[in-house]
Amino acid sequence: MSVAAGRIVLKSPREIELMRAAGRLVVRVLDAIEGEIRVGCTTASLNATAERLIREAGAQALFLGVTNPQSRGPFPASICSSINDEVVHGIPDERTLAEGDIVKVDCGVRLRGYCGDAARTFAVGRIAPEARRLLEVTKGALDLAVENVRPYQPWGKVAKLMQEYVERAGFGVVRDFVGHGIGREMHEEPKVPNYVDRRSRDADFELLPGMTLAVEPMVTVGKPDVEYRDRTRWTVVTKDGSLAAHFEHTLAVTQDGVSVLTDGK
Ligand code: MG
Ligand code: MG
Repeated sequence: MSVAAGRIVLKSPREIELMRAAGRLVVRVLDAIEGEIRVGCTTASLNATAERLIREAGAQALFLGVTNPQSRGPFPASICSSINDEVVHGIPDERTLAEGDIVKVDCGVRLRGYCGDAARTFAVGRIAPEARRLLEVTKGALDLAVENVRPYQPWGKVAKLMQEYVERAGFGVVRDFVGHGIGREMHEEPKVPNYVDRRSRDADFELLPGMTLAVEPMVTVGKPDVEYRDRTRWTVVTKDGSLAAHFEHTLAVTQDGVSVLTDGK
């Protein structure tokens, strides 16, 4: 059974294995999408692939039907697909991907009652050196989190490492969106920021074995400020129009470190 530590729900080894199974399905979806991405393909077609694989597995797409008080109508798709200056929560549509684009694909599923959530940023054809570096640094920030999560340490230590790494590279860390606890629900306590400031220090928490977290750095080439631009008020874009990248894993804190639940193993 789950154990509550404050408002954070710790998971049993059995529950973590169920989350790993959900994570494996997320990996299968992201791998399939990676194989389909090419110049001229639409994000709607990527969504159709995700929808089919999730349905065939008897699972549920977490994003489909989610409501947000700021947005017009429920989220209409199984994945989020966000192109170039779109950071997160982009809606798949009939736009075609062009040479040099970068596209963020975020996929969350619930399988047998437990959730997995992961995101990757893909290059479409050949991309500019700066875009390539953005992808490397954002993935690097996530890798740094995986390497540094240890039980009985404050999350803020990891967040600080991620922020310093990204800012040393000359990029920005998005503040308005953060990672989250995950388990039976896609969004559980705590909030998992990719930076530190006074507010995040006040809300900092100790990493404990059995804690399951979706860690998801969102990184911008320019300033980290974001806004909504489209009519639906779902798609989050950079205010200055600069490129953004996003990588995410679902992690479980273990007795001696961390286990990545969305690495497909
Ligand atoms: Mg996600
Ligand atoms: Mg997430």
